[in-house]
Amino acid sequence: MVTSARPDSQPSGPTSGTARSASLFERAQAVTPGGVNSPVRAFNAVGGTPRFIRSARGAWLTDVDGNEYVDLICSWGPMLLGHGHPEVQAAVAAAVARGTSYGTPTEPEVELAEEIVARTPVDRVRFVSSGTEATMSAIRLARGFTGRDVVLKFAGCYHGHVDSLLASAGSGLATFAVPGTPGVPESSTALTLVLPYNDRAAVEKAFAEHGERIACLITEAAPGNMGVVPPEPGFNAFLAETCARHGALFISDEVMTGFRAGRLGQWGLDGAREGWRPDLMTFGKVMGGGFPAAAFGGRADVMSRLAPEGPVYQAGTLSGNPIATTAGLTTLRLATDEVYAHIDAAGETIKAAAAAALSEAGVPHVVQSTGTMFSVFFTDPADGPVRDFADASRTDSIAFAAFFHAMLDRRVYLPPSAYEAWFLSSAHDDRAVQTVLDALPEAAEAAARAREEV
Ligand SMILES: *Cc1c(COP(=O)(O)O)cnc(C)c1O
Repeated sequence: MVTSARPDSQPSGPTSGTARSASLFERAQAVTPGGVNSPVRAFNAVGGTPRFIRSARGAWLTDVDGNEYVDLICSWGPMLLGHGHPEVQAAVAAAVARGTSYGTPTEPEVELAEEIVARTPVDRVRFVSSGTEATMSAIRLARGFTGRDVVLKFAGCYHGHVDSLLASAGSGLATFAVPGTPGVPESSTALTLVLPYNDRAAVEKAFAEHGERIACLITEAAPGNMGVVPPEPGFNAFLAETCARHGALFISDEVMTGFRAGRLGQWGLDGAREGWRPDLMTFGKVMGGGFPAAAFGGRADVMSRLAPEGPVYQAGTLSGNPIATTAGLTTLRLATDEVYAHIDAAGETIKAAAAAALSEAGVPHVVQSTGTMFSVFFTDPADGPVRDFADASRTDSIAFAAFFHAMLDRRVYLPPSAYEAWFLSSAHDDRAVQTVLDALPEAAEAAARAREEV
C-alpha cells in the first residue's frame, strides 16, 4: 500500500469559510464562461460555489481558504496513487529539468507504449493529449479501415466532446441521432446511431438494418459517466462478436476504466477471462498520471492504417509529451496489484457505510460497482438495478445535492454530480476513509430532509 502523510495542520471540524473561493469564482466568471474550464466543476448540478484548490497531498485537497477535504474526485479518475506521490513527482521533476517538449520522438514514449501493450490486449498504440482526441481518432481510423461511415454508441456513455458523439437518440430505435448540443450540425450526428445500454435486441436490430454501413460500435467498457453501470454478464463479448460478424470494429473506451477498474481495466474483468479482445481501445486519465496524455490502440493491421504508415491522417504537436509520458509511465509502474487491492478494500468500506447510512435515514438508493469503481444512485431499489441511461435518469438530484453539500461541509469533496463514480486512490488511508464514514450519517439525514421538503 502506498500511503502519504496528511498535511501537518489538523483539520478543525467545520470548514473555515469560503471567501477566497467565492472571490476567485467571481473573477473567473468575468473571464471564463461559467468560471470553469470544464462544466461539471461549476457546481451547477448541486448549487453553491466550487472550491478553488491550492494544493493536494495524498488523499487530501487544500482549498484557497485553508480548508482540507478528503478527495473523492481524484481529478475525475487520474490520481490512482493520490496527490504528490513522491516517485511520480521525482520522475516528473527530473524530466522537466531535461526539457519539456522537443517535437521529436523520445524514450519515455516508447517505454509507456511498451507498458500499455504489455498490460492490455492492444498490439500498438498512438498517443494523444486527451480522451476526446483518442475516441475521435479511433473513430476516424475505424472509418478509414472499414471504408464505412456509420457509428453506433449507447445513450449515457460519454466519450469526450467529439461532435459526432454528442448525440441523442432520435425518435425511435435504430434511427439516426440528433445533436445533443447547439453547435453540432445535424450532418455530424446523421451518421450516429444511439442505442440503450445493455440492450442486445437494440444492437441486433441496428445491425440488421444498417449492418453494411456500420464502421464501428463504440462503448464505455463499463459506463462510468452516468454513474457506474456494469455491462451485464457477456454483454461486451456479445458486442465484440456482433461487430465481428458484420465486419464492423468494436471500440472499447477505457479512458475511465483503464488501469482503474482493475490492473487490466474493465477488459481484465471480462475479455481477459472470456478470451476476446476489442479491435480498438482508448485510454486516458490514469495513464497520464495527472498530465494531459491519452491513447488509442488496437489490432496491428488496423493501427498500421494510421499515418505515416498508412493513409489515415492523425497528428499532435504535444502528443507523447515527455513530461506527460514520464508521469504516466511512473504511475503505471507503481500501479501494482497491491494498489488495486487497497483501493478495492477502501471502496468496500465506503460503499457499505454509505448504504447503511442512507438506509438508516430512509433514503432510497442503489450502489453499483465494477472492479474497484463504484457509485451511489439516489434511485429507488424497487425499480431494480440501473441498467441504462433511462434508469440512471430517475436519480433524485435534489436529495443528492443536499447529500453532496452536507459531505462537503464535513470535509469530503464528492464529484459535484449525481452521475459520477466516487474515485479513490492508494493514498486513501484509514484516516481519510474514517473522515468519509464520519460524514455519511448526517449527510444521509440531510438527503432525507431534502426529500421531505419537496
Ligand atoms: C473522461 C472520458 C473521456 C474524455 O476524456 P478527456 O480527456 O476529458 O477528453 C472519454 N471517454 C471516457 C469514458 C471518459 O471517462
